[in-house]
Amino acid sequence: LGRHRDDRRATGFEYNGVKFNQDNLNVFAGLCAVDNPEHVEMMLKALRDNGQVCTRMGAYKPRTNPYSFQGHGKSCLPWVFELAGRYGIKVIAMEITHDSHLVEIQEALRQTGNPTGVMLQIGTRNTQNFELLKIVGRQRELPVLLKRGFGITLEESLNAAEYLASEGNRNIVFGLRGMKTNMGDPHRNFVDFAHVPVVKRLTRMPVCIDPSHSVGSRDRAPDGMLDISHVTAQGVIAGANMVLVDFHPVPTKALVDGPQALLLEELPYFLEDIAIAREAY
Ligand code: PEP
Repeated sequence: LGRHRDDRRATGFEYNGVKFNQDNLNVFAGLCAVDNPEHVEMMLKALRDNGQVCTRMGAYKPRTNPYSFQGHGKSCLPWVFELAGRYGIKVIAMEITHDSHLVEIQEALRQTGNPTGVMLQIGTRNTQNFELLKIVGRQRELPVLLKRGFGITLEESLNAAEYLASEGNRNIVFGLRGMKTNMGDPHRNFVDFAHVPVVKRLTRMPVCIDPSHSVGSRDRAPDGMLDISHVTAQGVIAGANMVLVDFHPVPTKALVDGPQALLLEELPYFLEDIAIAREAY
């Protein structure tokens, strides 16, 4: 991953027509958890209307509480992929928590004729699930978004990325999503986007920021601006290459993380804020 100074191999990769590197920026706005075709279609339509070709859609949800909604899993994959293809989506970031999910996604993509692409997301709870990393690293078909572990050192999370790379898959985006601290307010997690340039200096991986899981709430900051927009701007100005962000057409009906989902009407403004921040980078 370029952690050796004499490694001069080109940075970044292209997947399904979308470029991922340390110089550009892709936005992955979408549903934290797939719930029903109506909401998925509303989301996809908003993305298409705003010129977006990437999204996030959670089918397998790692939940802290076993009684919480765990995601529709395999059963939703065919219709999610078909709908995504219909709305021009090229890449869906989708978390997997088990190697069987990888097989299910690959099968569903094949069965539906590859209408879209999938970036496999390894969540913060699995950053050091080394056996999962090795299996995901052994396939080269799908790129990987590896989230930083929320309670381990940066070095340990970067080593986790090496598990993917050492097995052969170097198409990795490294994700910052906030760290657990005992500091409490104002955010659910300590926003760690100051590490964007650090990771870019230490490795050749494009860096993703996840303002939704960092902040954990859509509530407005005292000056009337969205907190999620604030921290997104910080990350983009720091040089982020990907933004993973939760939206929902009706957040009160979202089955996972509704309070942090932005509204579809906010999408154009959110994208505009990103464009302004990007100019400042
Ligand atoms: C998510 O992106 O849906 C998620 C659960 O993120 P994290 O692993 O960062 O908590």
